[in-house]
Amino acid sequence: ALDLILDDRDSDERKIAGLWCLNSDGSVFTLPSRAVLIATGGAGQLWRHTTNPSVATGDGITMAVRAGAAVADLEFAQFHPTAYSNGDSNPFLISEAVRGDGAVLMTAEDLDNWHQAKQTDSSADPNDFSFMRQTDARGSLATRDIVARAIDTELKRSGRHHVLLVTEHLDAAHLASRFPNIANKMLKNGLKIGIDAIPVAPAAHYIVGGLAVNEWGEVWQRDLNSDDPTFSTKSDRLVDGLFAIGETACTGLHGANRLASNSLLEAVVFSHRSGVRVLEWLAAAAQEKPTYLNGELMDLQT
Ligand SMILES: Cc1cc2nc3c(=O)[nH]c(=O)nc-3n(C[C@H](O)[C@H](O)[C@H](O)COP(=O)(O)OP(=O)(O)OC[C@H]3O[C@@H](n4cnc5c(N)ncnc54)[C@H](O)[C@@H]3O)c2cc1C
Repeated sequence: ALDLILDDRDSDERKIAGLWCLNSDGSVFTLPSRAVLIATGGAGQLWRHTTNPSVATGDGITMAVRAGAAVADLEFAQFHPTAYSNGDSNPFLISEAVRGDGAVLMTAEDLDNWHQAKQTDSSADPNDFSFMRQTDARGSLATRDIVARAIDTELKRSGRHHVLLVTEHLDAAHLASRFPNIANKMLKNGLKIGIDAIPVAPAAHYIVGGLAVNEWGEVWQRDLNSDDPTFSTKSDRLVDGLFAIGETACTGLHGANRLASNSLLEAVVFSHRSGVRVLEWLAAAAQEKPTYLNGELMDLQT
């Protein structure tokens, strides 16, 4: 999908008439429709390092903004604290469950200090040597946002590209059976889980904000007299026929920072609600004669 077609781009009351799309041969075609439901996902590709797939470019948000939609909370982007850092722009995730199982975040100096301490005290606790303890009493088990910020601060201080996730004090066989995908990906990079320290850094992971929608996934129109498509300029009307669900939408359910795994739950609930409303909308819209059939869409096609 390239862009939304409106009944009238100059109107104060924006109404969806269809979609412009791109064929694999590069030609453009139109899909006339009284309803468009945007589900184009996140926008992690805006950042150099992201866990998101290459398609997460925020297309749906920009299309809708061009059509007069309001957005909300786009300043809230969640960073996953522990993406494997090998200089690749699409690093793989080291699940937070690995820290839950006892892995400890350290700088290279922290690791040296711990190794030295173990020479005189074999029971020295790696957590006592982690830079995370200076930020939060929970150390490496602090919440996602706190850990991501602490690592970012440490990287800015040291000038390095990553910190280390240390697992050598844990049972390697247990880790390999509990996290087989991570263990395999590490092996491909020449590292063994439970033995080698894993280089990790934060990466853009989830866009909390998005298209401003109501509880049915209907997209709010913005105040068209303002150039600022933010929530503060949301008008009191909806863009007729425009819906958004999933990461591209901002339902407000995630507050300023999504709790892990709540995105799929939100997507399922709002997809259903939105689907119900789309069918209602189309049933009502079928009663009226769309103005684009009077020639506008044919003009656009040429
Ligand atoms: C590595 C990783 C792990 C995650 N783990 C979890 C988890 O455990 N639990 C959880 O709740 N959430 C998790 N998330 C977040 C969750 O997966 C996403 O928020 C969710 O998948 C988004 O779903 P979506 O349907 O909105 O978008 P997506 O699933 O991203 O789908 C968007 C689709 O739109 C298509 N698209 C994009 N642009 C266009 C265009 N211009 N025209 C046509 N199509 C287009 C894309 O090709 C894609 O098929 C994770 C995310 C990542 C990256």
